[in-house]
Amino acid sequence: MEHIKPEALKSANHFPNEDDVTSAKETFWINSFKIPFEDARGFIEFKDTDEIAASERLERFSSYIKKIFPETEVSNGVIESDIVDASPIQSELEKHLGFVSVGQLMIKLDSELPISGSIKARGGIYEVLKHAESLAVDSGLLTYNDDYSRFSSKEFREFFSNYSITVGSTGNLGMSIGIMGACLGFNVTVHMSTDARKWKKDLLRSKGVVVVEHEADFGHAVIEARKDAAKNSQCHFIDDEDSADLFLGYAVAARRLKKQLDAQRIQVNSQHPLFVYLPCGVGGGPGGVTFGLKLVFGDDVHCVFVEPTHAPAVLLGVATGLDEHVSARDYGLDGLTAADGLAVSRPSGLVCRAMRPLISGITTVDDKRLNPYLAVSWDAQKIKLEPSAAAGFYGYFQTVGSSDYIQHYSLTDKMKNSTHIVWATGGIMVPEDEWLKYYEDGRERYKSEMCNN
Ligand SMILES: *Cc1c(COP(=O)(O)O)cnc(C)c1O
Repeated sequence: MEHIKPEALKSANHFPNEDDVTSAKETFWINSFKIPFEDARGFIEFKDTDEIAASERLERFSSYIKKIFPETEVSNGVIESDIVDASPIQSELEKHLGFVSVGQLMIKLDSELPISGSIKARGGIYEVLKHAESLAVDSGLLTYNDDYSRFSSKEFREFFSNYSITVGSTGNLGMSIGIMGACLGFNVTVHMSTDARKWKKDLLRSKGVVVVEHEADFGHAVIEARKDAAKNSQCHFIDDEDSADLFLGYAVAARRLKKQLDAQRIQVNSQHPLFVYLPCGVGGGPGGVTFGLKLVFGDDVHCVFVEPTHAPAVLLGVATGLDEHVSARDYGLDGLTAADGLAVSRPSGLVCRAMRPLISGITTVDDKRLNPYLAVSWDAQKIKLEPSAAAGFYGYFQTVGSSDYIQHYSLTDKMKNSTHIVWATGGIMVPEDEWLKYYEDGRERYKSEMCNN
């Protein structure tokens, strides 16, 4: 596989705002490596056929999913979220937080995804299902044409109890994998950093998942998880920093999104650009979704990642050309953020390489903005977000405000016809008392307009 060579990338003109990033200032990095999608395809190790295979695999599992998670009955066993118009939020943001409204704002409600209430219900559950399928097929228990509701049988659960799954997680990935893996009968171990939320650990333990806590950060939890998994040949390690399966599970979102937009008669073409704002941690979630979106919409979709100012892992990986060989800590940043899903210092190299020719840019956001967005989302539309999931709003604000970006892509005349999707990556699983603290803090701040600047 040929990649754009990192040595060719280490040049200051690809990373003009390096100083802002290093000093944890909010900034918008415009990706000067981006090339037309048709040219980019040859540099990416994933193909459209990979995404199709993932999509078909999830279809095979739909009878099983429907059977064990009754909340997916309405969608026929497909784990999918709605996309809704967000103009009430848009006008509140304009009124209180100085947003300039451009185009139609929409919100993608992965915050309400069935089973685990976050974007991780895409990639995490997909990788567990794929692993279960291959074990069952290899052992002769299953053929691809069977009715997959058989996975809920005692026979299958007993079979999977001989196998284990291990993952390192900031929280939501562990929940998706823990819930799904335990349902199938696997022995699941989740390694978490101590700063991961207690309610997530409690919930997992209540499902019979083993939770191992580590004093240090997420990167350390992953290292320990990897070591632990290597000791057991029957153990599958889900590697958030380097997993093609997670990536492809996320990618499946895109074709479904196109159907949802078609149903609402929202056009995407060269005269009607689509912008998508994706909160980013290690990169797999936003990266997979971006890859899928590019397959569907090509150059008519503009994907912007949003990272905390203290943990701009993917920005550093992509902009410096160093991929997984750079960490926010190398730049003197502490990696600490209230956005726990984004509290990642070292990016996934696989994702950096795939995203370098595709993404439009990466914006960083200060933590102080997240709770106000969360509060506005509730007040205007009763949408319940977690802090990480609110980060996308700042991507919208930064992008439509960037005349450099808009001119660079000759978008000036097209912005009035543009559609903007804030990808709300998590929310409904947050316990009420915990969520109320975010909300009250956010409401206080936006009512007093403290976060205008
Ligand atoms: C994990 C997560 C993300 C980011 O996904 P990555 O694959 O880590 O980049 C964003 N939001 C929430 C709520 C998450 O849990």
